[in-house]
Amino acid sequence: MARLTLENITKRFGEVVAVNELSLEVDDGEFVVFVGPSGCGKSTTLRMIAGLEEITDGKLSIDETVVNDLEPPERNVAMVFQNYALYPHMTARRNMTFGMNSSGSYTDEEIDERVSNAAEMLDIVDLLERKPANLSGGERQRVAIGRALVRQPDVFLLDEPLSNLDAKLRVQMRSELSELHSRLQTTTVYVTHDQVEALTLGDRVAVMNEGQLEQVAAPQELYDFPKTQFVAGFIGSPAMNMIQVNVVHAGGRVYAESNSFRIPLSRADPSGVPEQRAILGVRPEDIHLADELDNEADRIPTDIRITEPLGETLLAYSDIDGTEIKFKTEPHQPMDNQSQVELTFNPDRLHLFDAESGEAIH
Ligand code: ATP
Repeated sequence: MARLTLENITKRFGEVVAVNELSLEVDDGEFVVFVGPSGCGKSTTLRMIAGLEEITDGKLSIDETVVNDLEPPERNVAMVFQNYALYPHMTARRNMTFGMNSSGSYTDEEIDERVSNAAEMLDIVDLLERKPANLSGGERQRVAIGRALVRQPDVFLLDEPLSNLDAKLRVQMRSELSELHSRLQTTTVYVTHDQVEALTLGDRVAVMNEGQLEQVAAPQELYDFPKTQFVAGFIGSPAMNMIQVNVVHAGGRVYAESNSFRIPLSRADPSGVPEQRAILGVRPEDIHLADELDNEADRIPTDIRITEPLGETLLAYSDIDGTEIKFKTEPHQPMDNQSQVELTFNPDRLHLFDAESGEAIH
């Protein structure tokens, strides 16, 4: 059992508020990913959980124990760093066990058995007697993860562990980490700036912005129902299109209106969505080239600026009311730059955000 509880956790570095009143509960066995842009405070949060950074304010507990003032080894957490942090003069085996021998808490047999188990799980049995200089980046990362595994901690903490690997290896290690977690079921907190990594790994994803938690949710929920414009723009690639509109009521329906379109918001009710200035959010996959079945009134005329073939799809750039719009379409669609097209938005998948606060209003 290891439930991690952060209650109003704040970290100040002098005048800088790196983490601001962050509260979150990570369930026993859960995999939570912190994601956000550079400088949003995610590493600082992880380092506070690890005990590497003092907590300015708030309460951090593992199960029922408040751990604010416990030294890192007393917290029974294990951290994997972005740069692996291996000792260059020690073999992989020694790197994995360093500190365990001297603690006196384990017998040599116990340590050997744990190393064997971890090495098998990570497929590094044949590398144990090598030093880091003789290992590839991916192998070093496995050793660093192995070092965390042999400690059998209550909580795994991983800080951008895959960002020094090339793209292919990163995808492979990502799925191996997922498998490892489903096998071990250890409570895990993982930090990344990569939203794809966050969505694919996390049971829940915690999106941070400027020291604050914007939203915590399961990956699909975060994608389908972002609570703020920031989350909507950060999660998803290419990013959600954001268009300034006016919300207007007519005939008992709610419309998003701009100079060049007036679209009914099928999920909105006039009593819940007042007339106001707002930001309409539309994901690139929810914009389509209009065909003869579409209502004239729903078609939005635009010019294609450029297209980018992505293999399985074609990404097209156009312009609506001076805002760049990206949309995905069928790759074999003949579409020249500068050609005139008509677009439609999927009315069931539109998002609306308050123009001032950025909060979702629909
Ligand atoms: P990155 O992805 O770039 O590592 P991050 O989201 O992990 O970013 P943090 O490293 O947690 O962000 O930093 C959060 C804020 O705290 C930043 O403004 C950073 O400059 C500041 N900060 C971090 N460590 C210190 C420190 N030791 N002294 C002063 N300011 C710090």
